Amino acid sequence: MCREFRRYLPYLVAFGAMGVVMAIRAAIPDSYYHNSPFLLGLGAVVLTSIYGGALPGLLCAALALVIEVFRWAPAFGPEELFNGALFCPLAIAIACGGGWLRRSRARGTAAVEHLREREAHLQSILDTVPDAMVVIDERGVIQSFSKAAERMFLWTAGEAIGRNVSTLMPSPDREAHNSYLARYLETGEHRIIGKGREVLGRRKDGSIFPMELHVGETRSHRYYFTGIIRDLTARNEAEARLRELQSELTHVARFSAMGEMASTLAHELNQPLSAIANYLKGGILLLRSNEPDLPKTIDAIDKAADQALRAGQIIHRLREFVGRGEIDKRIESLSQLIDEAIALTLVGPKSAGVRIQRDLDPAFDAVFADRVQIQQVMLNLIRNSVDAMEHTPRQELAVSTRLTDDDFVLISFTDTGTGLRQEVSARLFQPFITTKPHGMGVGLSISREIIKGHGGRIWAENNPAGGATFHFTLPLATELEHA
Ligand code: ADP
Repeated sequence: MCREFRRYLPYLVAFGAMGVVMAIRAAIPDSYYHNSPFLLGLGAVVLTSIYGGALPGLLCAALALVIEVFRWAPAFGPEELFNGALFCPLAIAIACGGGWLRRSRARGTAAVEHLREREAHLQSILDTVPDAMVVIDERGVIQSFSKAAERMFLWTAGEAIGRNVSTLMPSPDREAHNSYLARYLETGEHRIIGKGREVLGRRKDGSIFPMELHVGETRSHRYYFTGIIRDLTARNEAEARLRELQSELTHVARFSAMGEMASTLAHELNQPLSAIANYLKGGILLLRSNEPDLPKTIDAIDKAADQALRAGQIIHRLREFVGRGEIDKRIESLSQLIDEAIALTLVGPKSAGVRIQRDLDPAFDAVFADRVQIQQVMLNLIRNSVDAMEHTPRQELAVSTRLTDDDFVLISFTDTGTGLRQEVSARLFQPFITTKPHGMGVGLSISREIIKGHGGRIWAENNPAGGATFHFTLPLATELEHA
């Protein structure tokens, strides 16, 4: 009913407008509009056409013409004919113009409506997908913050919009992000735009989490950057669990293999040990005789020493077997190895409060290393630090790299934990040394074997201000290796 009424309303307006024209004409003397009898009619046609379009406008024009013709009927002359001839095309043109205006207005409204619908649709998609979306301008100021971003970073859109996006990053990206943007705007050099990258994010409560970031850019009168972010915490948790299981499995396999080896070893060691005992006993007998034969005695002791070395080698072979894995050295990015190791270990409630500080020298980022093994070392060190900081009020882990004088890169992990206990500090890297109730005490000894296999060194010290620092070195990848 209402729609029907709205459909015919412009025609009613045409009648109404002509009614008003007639009322005005009745109210004022004829002499005022004698020379332009169609002026008021034209006004009504303009209003009706603008409001209702072509047909109501034409209806209004026809009504105006009929009224005038009726008025002229008694004295129809050339002047009336001229006025009528002028009025008709003018009124038709105005009505058509009004129709065009109305159609464009309707098209504009439909386009705006369509745009609104699309925007609402897009918004609902963005609100549903688990990936977060953050749009920033060229100054790094957040312009848009999706529902998933609110859930991920714990900021509401109202709080986040207008802030610098560096708020969502931990150090050192937090301090450096503005310079990254400035460099991109100046050089146009893509570092992250168009490529996905694993980085660290920072929630409102200061906790850090691993995330995958894809950045796209839009250029209109200004630059806009859109970041699509996926929280990798769950994935990394699963990966970390898997790795833990794998490494436990490897250890179990190694230990059972060791058990099998033990009997062989006992047999192998028995031989050099009995030989040593025999040679030494023979030497003693020679020395005790009335005429000691010195060259023979020296020979017996020499042979005993050889057998002792052989026994040592057998034990060394066993240790190598326990700590060994196939080494597959390649040129690796140290910062990437570190970031991945951090992301893999910083999951779970134990590490929720740990703040990470990275001070990595980009000039010496390429090392020659076995990715899996070096990450195993880093995971061990980070996990030990997290364990040591479990009950300390400050939980900070600083990772730094720098070049040593002999072209090695020194990697240091400094924590604010309990520090190294005196009873174990001298034997840290020996197997089965642990202070943890459920520790195996093999992490550091395997780490040492791995670093040794890379030609580097590993050592630890207590910090003057509390906590411990573990250092290790890796060979820097030289230009020759790059080639
Ligand atoms: P586990 O972790 O199974 O004990 P590890 O070989 O990794 O085996 O570590 C041996 C011991 O070294 C630990 O039990 C602990 O006492 C000590 N330790 C290692 N890292 C740290 C650290 N960051 N702070 C204090 N003590 C540490």
